[in-house]
Order: sequence, then C-alpha cells, then structure tokens
Amino acid sequence: MYRITSYLNSVSAGAAMDIPNLVNALIVDAVAANASDIHIEPWETSLVVRIRISGVLTELVHLPLELAEKVSGRVKVMSNLISYVTDIPQEGHAPASKDYGNVELRISTFPTVRGEKIVIRIFDPANRSFDLRTLGFDDETLHTLLKLLARPSGLLLLTGPTGSGKTTAIYAALCHLISKGGAAMSLSTVEDPVEFHLPMISQAQINPAKEFTYPIALRSLMRQDPEVIMIGEIRDPETAAIAVQAGLTGHLVISTTHSGSTAGVFARLLNMGIEPFLLASSVIGALGLRLIRKNCDYCSEPYEPSPGLLSLLPEHVRETASFRRGGGCSECVHTGFGQRTAVTEMMVVDEVLRDAILQKLPSRSLQEVAIKQGMKTLWNIGLARVVQGQTPLEEILRVISPDD
Ligand SMILES: [Zn+2]
Repeated sequence: MYRITSYLNSVSAGAAMDIPNLVNALIVDAVAANASDIHIEPWETSLVVRIRISGVLTELVHLPLELAEKVSGRVKVMSNLISYVTDIPQEGHAPASKDYGNVELRISTFPTVRGEKIVIRIFDPANRSFDLRTLGFDDETLHTLLKLLARPSGLLLLTGPTGSGKTTAIYAALCHLISKGGAAMSLSTVEDPVEFHLPMISQAQINPAKEFTYPIALRSLMRQDPEVIMIGEIRDPETAAIAVQAGLTGHLVISTTHSGSTAGVFARLLNMGIEPFLLASSVIGALGLRLIRKNCDYCSEPYEPSPGLLSLLPEHVRETASFRRGGGCSECVHTGFGQRTAVTEMMVVDEVLRDAILQKLPSRSLQEVAIKQGMKTLWNIGLARVVQGQTPLEEILRVISPDD
C-alpha cells in the first residue's frame, strides 16, 4: 500500500495533518515506484498528485484542494524558494535526505489560474551509472558509436524528443571517453542545466540572466585547450557556427539538437545558417534516440495484436514474431512494463552521404541514402524488439511512426 494512503487514513482516524510528513510520504511513494517526476497540480475539485513511471504519468492520489497552498509552501521551503511568491515561476533544488528516500530533487513551480503547479524531478545519486553498454543499444549501433567516439575531431549530434534519453547517452559517451583517456584527456561541457556531476570533466552551466550564454561560454571555452567539448543543445545560429568550427579544428564535439527525424539534423543546421560544405565536412554522425518500455519480467505473456496493427507489419515479421505483453502485476505497479530501453537510428556520414548533404537534399532523401548505405531505421530496430517479445507492438507505435 502507498505510504500516502496509510498517512491519509491515519489523519481521517483523528491524527493531526502534518504537511511535511504528507509531502515526504508522496516522495517516498514516488521513489518506491521508480518514478522520475512528481506532478502536484490543482484541478477543479482536488489537488491531484501524479507520478511519471517509465515515461508515463499515472495518478497517485487526490488531495483536498484546500491543501494546495500549504503543500506548495512546504515544497518551496525544502528547496529554498521564496514561499510567499506565488505568481511567478521559481526553480530550486533540494539535497538528498533520508526523510524522503535519499534522492535529490529538482523543483519547479508554475503559476496557473487555479494556483501553483509543482513539478518535482527525482534524481537518485546511487542509481546513476553512465555506461554505454547498459542503455539497450544493439551491438551494431554500439560498435559504430564507439568508432565515432574514437575520432579526434568532428561533430556528433544526438537527436530525439524530450525524455528520449539524450542526456543519459551523452553522459555515458563522456564517461566512456574518460575511462579510455583518463587524466590525459581534456573534456569540457556547457550545459543547461548540469544534470549530474561527472568525475574528471569540467562542467559549466549557462546562466542567461548573467549573460553567460552558450555562445559566450563556448568562445571562452575554446581558449581553455579542450579536446572534447559537449554542448547541451545547439539551438541558435551562433552556437551552431562555433560547434561546426570547433569540430573542423581538431575537437570532438558532442551535442544535441531538436529535429523531427535523425536526417532532419542537417536541415536544422542549414536553417541556422551553416553552409552545406561546412556541414558535410564537420558532422561525422547523427544518432536518433527513442525510449521504449520493456515488458515486465514477471507478468509478460503471449498475445495477438489487433488485425489493424498487424497490417502495418511486413509479412515475414508477422510470421516470425512472438508477440508478448505484460498483463500487470504487483512487481510493475500493474503497468505491465519494466525498465526502459533505447531504440536507435545511427546515421554515419560517409562519402556518399557527404555528397548528398553538399547537394542540400531534403531530409527524406538523406534518410534514403543512409538506408542504402546500411542504416537501420528506428522503426526497423523497434520492430526487431517486438519480434523478440521484448515489448508489445503498441509500445513501439506509441513512440515511433512506421513512416520514420
Ligand atoms: Zn508485471
């Protein structure tokens, strides 16, 4: 039973309401369920608390609406925010405490018309290992990625929607480089924000309020003799230009950018004013990422997808697949799912693709060229996971379109 449920029962049996205990119970429940975030949000008639488990929001409890201000006040005290300020967004951090499961919390408040919405992101310092081999990459992707990371220079881009595992993958790549290069390697990052402190790496966090922006940080960083540079995100023309220039002048640059598809990173950089010949000679690869939920080990069972969904699959897949999904059990909080794993699309810039980039071919054509050169698409790698019974077909369709 959830800690919050037994706490609320004790209150209705006559015990006094204690807000710090109530908030701690919410966090302890979220940590026990392996949730990544807690959303506390005033709805019409209740203060709803939802937790994100394996990427999906689920309701934890509905509290009386009149507790909204007290709960947000308590959360702000925990994270050193100004508790009487309720009409502008605030961001804060609460250190790990044994009162709520030894996790670190990143807290953001946001004023809505019904009162403040609180989102608490949970970081478990004991549970973060950044190992490229544990992300769920298939052998071919991993092998290619390790080869690209061994290059002395060039720009490697990761792309995918928010929550697709880009930060974890980049941190794992950096840890791999440190494990190989050790003290002989100079590795620097510029991030927004720094999500995790890594050993032997100079990490900086931009602060636009003090005009410490990506371009300003990177221009100074270039004078710090770095070999490997990680840029949290390329989202403006100036940062794009510096990243490309650094990649062309003997640095390995790793970054992320937002684009609808993996091949779309090239159009995105062209739109930021990067010349095609600079793009073709600096970018060494683009890695598309998505996260899917694996079936729960305890309750996964055979099933048959609906005929409509089956018709999306090639015949040889339909015939060879052993479709499985989780039925739901106490081990998986009745979700049917266990841990998350990555599905990838590794686009390597070789001679042929370089030519296609120089010709400014549209993203779709670049993708076709890459497929001819042997690239496996997100959809094909996702389908392989379905065929192995690792995840249901519906889960792949939730995050990847057959057209991708
Ligand atoms: Zn289960």
